[in-house]
Amino acid sequence: MILVLNSGSSSLKFQLFSMDTLQSLASGIIEQIGEKSSHTRLQFTDSDGKSQEITHTQPIPEHKAAIATMSELLKQNNLLVHLDKLSGIGHRVVHGGEAFHHSVLIDKHVMEGISDLSPLAPLHNPANLAGIEVAMAQAPNTPQVAVFDTAFHQTIPVHSFLYALPFTLYEKEKVRRYGFHGTSHSYVAKAAARFLGRPFTSLKTITLHLGNGASAAAIHNGSCQDTSMGMTPLEGLVMGTRSGDLDPAILFYLARETGMTLNELDELLNKKSGLKGICGDNDMRTITERIKQGDKQAALALEIFCYRLKKYIGSYLAVLGGADCIVFTGGIGEHSSLVRQKSCAGLKDLGIVLDPEKNELRSGEARAIHLQQSKVQVLVIPTNEELEIAAQTLKLISSTSTS
Ligand code: AMP
Repeated sequence: MILVLNSGSSSLKFQLFSMDTLQSLASGIIEQIGEKSSHTRLQFTDSDGKSQEITHTQPIPEHKAAIATMSELLKQNNLLVHLDKLSGIGHRVVHGGEAFHHSVLIDKHVMEGISDLSPLAPLHNPANLAGIEVAMAQAPNTPQVAVFDTAFHQTIPVHSFLYALPFTLYEKEKVRRYGFHGTSHSYVAKAAARFLGRPFTSLKTITLHLGNGASAAAIHNGSCQDTSMGMTPLEGLVMGTRSGDLDPAILFYLARETGMTLNELDELLNKKSGLKGICGDNDMRTITERIKQGDKQAALALEIFCYRLKKYIGSYLAVLGGADCIVFTGGIGEHSSLVRQKSCAGLKDLGIVLDPEKNELRSGEARAIHLQQSKVQVLVIPTNEELEIAAQTLKLISSTSTS
C-alpha cells in the first residue's frame, strides 16, 4: 500500500491507496493541529466513500501527534498495523524552488533542500517537512517520495519566469516565477490527453485550476510553458481571498496614505481581497445563490473573476499559438457552469464554443462541454492530486527497486 501525506501548517490530510490498482482504501483529514482547542476535528472516509466525523477530545499539538492519531485510525479500521508495513509514502511539498524539477526519493539531502527553501514558502515547507521527519523516523526503511507543487512548472522558459527586475534579484534572492498547483495541472493535462485519445506530448493545453486558490497553465508538448501564479501563490487569477494581479504601486500608495504596515498589506492581499474583498463572500456557491437573489455586489465579484480568467485564456492562446483543449478543474472549475459559461463567452472567433446543455450537466466524471464546431475542445476533469502523488510515488519506488 501507498500512503499519501499532505502535512499543512494546521492540518494533516492522508490517503491510503492499494499498490496494484491505486484504488483509494481510506482517506482523512485531521484539523486544528497546534491550536489551543479542547478537541480536534477528524474526518475519516473508508473505501466505499462512507465518511465519519470524529471528535478527538485531546488537542493535537504537532505533526507527531497527528500522525500517531492517523496511524491509530488506520489500525482500528484494520487497514495498516504500522507505517513500516507500507510499500511507500508520498509527501506533498509545496516549494521545490529550482532545486527540484521532479519528484524525488527522500534522503537527508532532500530534507535539507526542502528546509533551505522555507523562506520561499514559510507557511508550507516547514509543515511539509515536519510531516516528513515524523514519517521518516517511524518508517526509516520505507521508501518515501517528495512530490513538489512547483516541479511541473520548472520547464517554463526563462523569458516567461523572469520578472523585469534587476537581474541580480534573481541571482541573489531567487526572485522569479515558480508557479503552484503543478501536481493538479499535470494530472488533469495528462487525463485530458487520455480522454481525447491523443499523446500528451502532442497537445497544446490550457489548464484552469479554479478552487479557493486558482491558477492557469499553458502546456505544449507535455511541458509547461507558463503559469499564472508567480514567486508566491498570490499572482494571477482572482481567488477566494487573494487579489491575483494588481499594480504593485498600489501597495506603496496604501502604505503612504493609510500607514498600513507590511503585515497588514500582506493580510489585505492574501486574506481580505479576491471574491471576499469585492462582495464579502469567498465561496462560489454562496456567491451564485446571492446572484440568483439579485445581489449586485455578488454579480460584480463573479464578473471580475470571469473577466480575469478570460484574459488569461486569451493570453495563453497567444502563448501557445492556439490550443487543442482547455481543461476546467478544482471546486469551481468542476462545478460552476456559470463560471465556465461566462469565461468562455464571446470566444467563438478564437475557436471556443461551449455547448450550453453539456455545460449544465452535473457529473463527477471527465467530460467534454463544447459544441462540435468548437476548434478547441473544452473539458471538465476532476482533479485528484493525491492520486497523482501516489502514482508518482509508485513510479519512483518501482524504478528504483528494479534498477
Ligand atoms: P477547492 O479549493 O478546489 O476545494 O474549491 C473550493 C471552491 O469550489 C469554493 O469556492 C466552492 O464554493 C467551490 N464549489 C464547490 N462546489 C461548488 C458548486 N457546486 N458550485 C459552485 N462552486 C462550487
